[in-house]
Amino acid sequence: MPEFFADAEAAFDDARFVIWGYPFDGTACFRKGAADGPEAIRHHSHNFESWLNELGLDLRDVPTHDWGDVETVADQEANNSAIGEIVDRIGAAGKFPVGLGGEHSLTPPAVAALKQHYPNLTVVVLDAHLDYRDGYQGAKWSHAATTRRVSEIVGVECVRVIGVRSLSREEQQAAREDDLSYIEAGWVDLREHLSDIVDALDGPLYLSLDMDAIDPAFAPGVGTPEPFGMTPYEVLQVLNFLSDRLVGFDCVETCPPADNGNTAALAARLVRHALGAVVKAQTAGE
Ligand code: MN
Ligand code: MN
Repeated sequence: MPEFFADAEAAFDDARFVIWGYPFDGTACFRKGAADGPEAIRHHSHNFESWLNELGLDLRDVPTHDWGDVETVADQEANNSAIGEIVDRIGAAGKFPVGLGGEHSLTPPAVAALKQHYPNLTVVVLDAHLDYRDGYQGAKWSHAATTRRVSEIVGVECVRVIGVRSLSREEQQAAREDDLSYIEAGWVDLREHLSDIVDALDGPLYLSLDMDAIDPAFAPGVGTPEPFGMTPYEVLQVLNFLSDRLVGFDCVETCPPADNGNTAALAARLVRHALGAVVKAQTAGE
């Protein structure tokens, strides 16, 4: 019997949020191990109080279901179908999907499934990497191609990437040609850029958090660590800014074999904050 995410005790039909895991790292190109991410994040979720003091709400009052993990195989097309099936089911029921990775290849099929229920879906990706390769090492659905695939699904004008500091020359060229809008980590006034994103992207929003967006000092346990990253508090700011329009979320690339425990703990805590922030922003006035 696997350990479920803390306080996710509601039945599917009663839940507002449905957590699902993707224990896959088949295209990881540096350090493998993200397949153990969902289990580690669930385990660490039990370290935290159900009371989210920063939001003034209790997750015991937030009906959440943990669906368990998608069954994964080597064939990514098959994995995409499995992801599409569960996210479609969640979206069709008017519920909010929360994906736990696993590598970042989780996101495109999740976005594709959710777009069926939100035709004008927009996407914000937090990532150290631009992930704009047109496939990598022969894999079209590589975790290094996530933003490229997502842009094909929702339209490049409906995508923003935050925290970028690693990309190839070819990716930079392709991003310029396609007019992909991304914000580099480090020098920017994040709040100002978030305001721009809120103004530019109208409608329902899917947020994908690649944990390597965060500096390796805070999140060392990722497959491809990249210095000069975001702080955890900046990620909280992003969640708070965008929470009123969020309809889906994922947290990917936690790699337990490379972790001292802090990355899984941070991932679990950010997922918990995301649930609370969405409830707080979207329940006002109900
Ligand atoms: Mn990524
Ligand atoms: Mn990344």
